[in-house]
Amino acid sequence: MTAPTMPDARGRFGDFGGRFVPETLMTALGELEAAFAEAREDAAFQDELQSLLRDFVGRPTALYFAENLSKRLSGTTSDGAAKVRIYFKREDLAHTGAHKINNAVAQGLLARRLGKQRIIAETGAGQHGVATATVCAMFGQECIVYMGAEDVQRQALNVFRMKLLGAEVRVVDSGSQTLKDAINEAIRDWVTNVETTHYLLGSAVGPHPYPLMVREFQSVIGSEAREQMLAAEGRLPDYAIACVGGGSNAIGLFHPFYNDDVRFIGVEAAGEGLDTGHTAAPLSVGSPGVLHGSYSYLLQDEGGQIEEARSISAGLDYPGVGPEHSFYKQSERAEYVAATDEEALEGFKLLSETEGIIPALEPAHAIAYASKLVPTLAEGTIVLIGLSGRGDKDIDTAAKALGVDLT
Ligand SMILES: *Cc1c(COP(=O)(O)O)cnc(C)c1O
Repeated sequence: MTAPTMPDARGRFGDFGGRFVPETLMTALGELEAAFAEAREDAAFQDELQSLLRDFVGRPTALYFAENLSKRLSGTTSDGAAKVRIYFKREDLAHTGAHKINNAVAQGLLARRLGKQRIIAETGAGQHGVATATVCAMFGQECIVYMGAEDVQRQALNVFRMKLLGAEVRVVDSGSQTLKDAINEAIRDWVTNVETTHYLLGSAVGPHPYPLMVREFQSVIGSEAREQMLAAEGRLPDYAIACVGGGSNAIGLFHPFYNDDVRFIGVEAAGEGLDTGHTAAPLSVGSPGVLHGSYSYLLQDEGGQIEEARSISAGLDYPGVGPEHSFYKQSERAEYVAATDEEALEGFKLLSETEGIIPALEPAHAIAYASKLVPTLAEGTIVLIGLSGRGDKDIDTAAKALGVDLT
């Protein structure tokens, strides 16, 4: 690994990241950093993680050549082949239906190694909450999930899932009653109970070592995809495209290609449109500041107050982004673009119709952007898209947005 892909001694990727937390958490973060560094080198930990990823999560997930979509977007050559070849890395096939389980399993294992039996987590739509509750049930750990009151209402089914899995869901009534407030509460709990508790953070955000640790646990996506691409095509893709909320599925897909000649495109949620003020696209329209313990791009007003994020996709509905993406933006290693709610819905329908795969609304943003990019690409180009999750959770939202009455 080359230097730029590792944070410096202060936990920074270039200017971004760091550890902006109350002093009471500094010890726990130091302890976590040390435990993570040890676990990484420990063959027993890695063996156990590998077997859980295989038997519990269902890895490796498939790499799928989307021939119909490729032909639809790029047309065909004289012998009937797709001009541009689009592949999907199928995280939708992982246990619980998204990539979040990769990180949850690994952090659950790390918590056990730290001797911490009490796990707390935050959740927006409930996907990370479900992944964490799933892992805690399997490891026999106590699980408390913080969730904004508004999200509890919107995601009743996931609340029930978490309870079935034995988790306690704590409703957060403060602020906008969404993900950002749930994270605030989880941090507050951690400060109070840090001796017994591991905070199982769900994306590549937060204070060091979380962004690094989550990236490493999610890099299984890109590592597998790299091998699978070489097996399928005998070469690496020209593009890797993924949606960016906090940024964990994207950085997990990108990182193993860091030193390769592969162009990275992160697709944020433009919400109602980049110029409407109703977006969840900090890299596109935000500016750097501190949120949830780390310095990175975020949505803020002139006084530095955090602005509300807005996206049709709950998993992208976050005003910040992981620091490594801010570094990729600054160093121009990746390009960041955005897709609107409406475009994401088109992407959602497009993949469903052409390939028989209903994607989550989050990766539908990446599909939407690809549907504009692919027709402009030269014949022979290969595009890899991270399909971070399946769409079952979004059927109601999509039906409503498309004006379909399910009752
Ligand atoms: C949570 C979620 C995301 C966004 O989180 P990242 O950390 O940016 O990956 C994307 N896709 C799906 C399916 C999710 O559940």
